[in-house]
Amino acid sequence: MSKIYNDSNIFCPTSTTANIHEASSIEFNQIYHLSILHYCPTCQAPKSSEQCSFNLESKFCSNCLADHTDSRSGYCTKNCFICPRCNVILTITISDHGSGKSFKFRCPYCPFQFQSGINEKPKSLHAIVKFERKENPDLHYQLFRTIQSSLSERKDYYHDKSDLSERMEKTLQLGSKHHHDIEKDPFTIDSNRDGISDIQSLTRNPLLDNNSIHPNQPYQEPKFPIVHPLTSKFSRKCLACNTQLLVPAVNKEAPTINKFIIKFNAIEYMPTLKFAPIEDLTLQFDNQRQLLLNFINPLSSKMAVTIAAPPILSSRFVKPSCRHIVNVTLPVSKFVLGALTSKNVMNGIPTSLLTSETAASRAELVRRVGEAQYAEQTEDLQKLVQKGSNWYTIPISVCVEKNTQEESLPLEDSSVTYDIQIPLYITVGSDLPDSLKSVSNRERLSFGYWNVVKLEGIKFHG
Ligand SMILES: [Zn+2]
Ligand SMILES: [Zn+2]
Ligand SMILES: [Zn+2]
Repeated sequence: MSKIYNDSNIFCPTSTTANIHEASSIEFNQIYHLSILHYCPTCQAPKSSEQCSFNLESKFCSNCLADHTDSRSGYCTKNCFICPRCNVILTITISDHGSGKSFKFRCPYCPFQFQSGINEKPKSLHAIVKFERKENPDLHYQLFRTIQSSLSERKDYYHDKSDLSERMEKTLQLGSKHHHDIEKDPFTIDSNRDGISDIQSLTRNPLLDNNSIHPNQPYQEPKFPIVHPLTSKFSRKCLACNTQLLVPAVNKEAPTINKFIIKFNAIEYMPTLKFAPIEDLTLQFDNQRQLLLNFINPLSSKMAVTIAAPPILSSRFVKPSCRHIVNVTLPVSKFVLGALTSKNVMNGIPTSLLTSETAASRAELVRRVGEAQYAEQTEDLQKLVQKGSNWYTIPISVCVEKNTQEESLPLEDSSVTYDIQIPLYITVGSDLPDSLKSVSNRERLSFGYWNVVKLEGIKFHG
C-alpha cells in the first residue's frame, strides 16, 4: 500500500501555549501530510519544517557539478545557462571572427536561440549576456526592473505617515540603500519612473499592459538565456530541543547522490491511517453511516493505540458552512496494532484495501473471507473490526442531524457537496525502536497527536 496516498494529515502546532488536547487548538494551516514530516526522538513528536531550524550544508550546480557552498550566488557562475522557454541546459558554440569571438546559445528541444555580438576582449558569458540585455532589453527584463525600482521607492510612500515605527523606518532605509546600490549597477535600465509612486500604479503601467497577460497584445518571446539555479542541501534541527532530525551526506565529488547521515522520518514511527474505499458519498439525515478506518503500524514492535474524537464537530470543520450538526462516534477507542514482522507484503494490507484488480490480491481476499467464516460468531460491533499482522480496522460512525430550528436560514441546495474534516486524537505507546535507542533519553515510545481525516465531496440527503 502506498505510504503517500493515505489519510494521515497531522496537526503540528507551532504555538507552545495552546492546549493541544482541545480540538479548538487545531489550526488548519498547520496540518501536514505524514509523508513530509520529521520525527523528533527527544520531543517524541512529529515536526513540520516550520518547527525546524535549517543549515546550508552544500550548494552545487546540478549541470557542471561545481561546488558553490561558500559563494553567495544563487546561480551557477560557470557557463551554465538554461532555456527561458523549457528550462533545459543550452548548448553554446563559439565563432572566431578574427577581431573577436561571438557566442551562440541554442536549446536542444525548442527553437530558442541567442546570438551574441562580437566581443573583442575576453569576458565571462554572464557579463556578455548582462551587457546585451542592458543594451537591448526585452519586455520581461524591463518589467522586472520596473517592479524592482518601484518596490524600493516605497520609502516615499510611507514618508508622511507619523505612526511609522522605528523598526520599519530602519528596514526602509536599508531598502533605500539597496536601491542606491542597484542604481550604481551598470546594467540598470532607467525605466520610466514617473507615475510609479506606489504599487497600485503598477497595474496602470504601460509595460504591464503590453505583457502577455493582455489578450489583445502579441506575446513577446523572452530573448535571453537564463542563469542556471543552484541546488542546495540543508540539514534540519528541532527548534524545541536542537536534536538533529535530518543531515545529508555531503560528497563534493558526487554532489547529486542523495544519501543521509541522520534521517528521522515521521512515517517510520507513526501509524498510517487510511479509509476503506467509500462508494456512495451521500449521508442520509439522522442516519448513522459506518466508515472503516485502517491503522497500519510501521514499527517492528507492538503499538498500543487510543483514539478519541469530539462527539459534535464544530462548524469550522465543515466546508462550506451549514446549519446541520455532524456527530462522530467511535465504537472502538482502544486497540493494539501488531508488529511489522512478516516478510509477506500481502499480509500487511488491510482487508478493506484489497482490490480485485490483481490475481494475488483476489486470492488473498478469498482466503481471508474463507477464514472469517470459520471464525467464532461475535457481536455486531466486533464484525466490523478486522485485524491482521500489523494492521487494525475500526468502524467510525458519522451522522448528520438535520437542523430545523433555525428557520431564518435558507434551505441548502441538495446539489451542494461538503468537505468534512474529522479531528482524531491518537495516542501511541510502544517499546523504544532500536533506531532511537542511541538518541532518546526515554525508555518507551509514548506520544499523542491530532490526525485530521478528510471526507471530501459529501452530499447530505433526506
Ligand atoms: Zn525536539
Ligand atoms: Zn554549472
Ligand atoms: Zn527550449
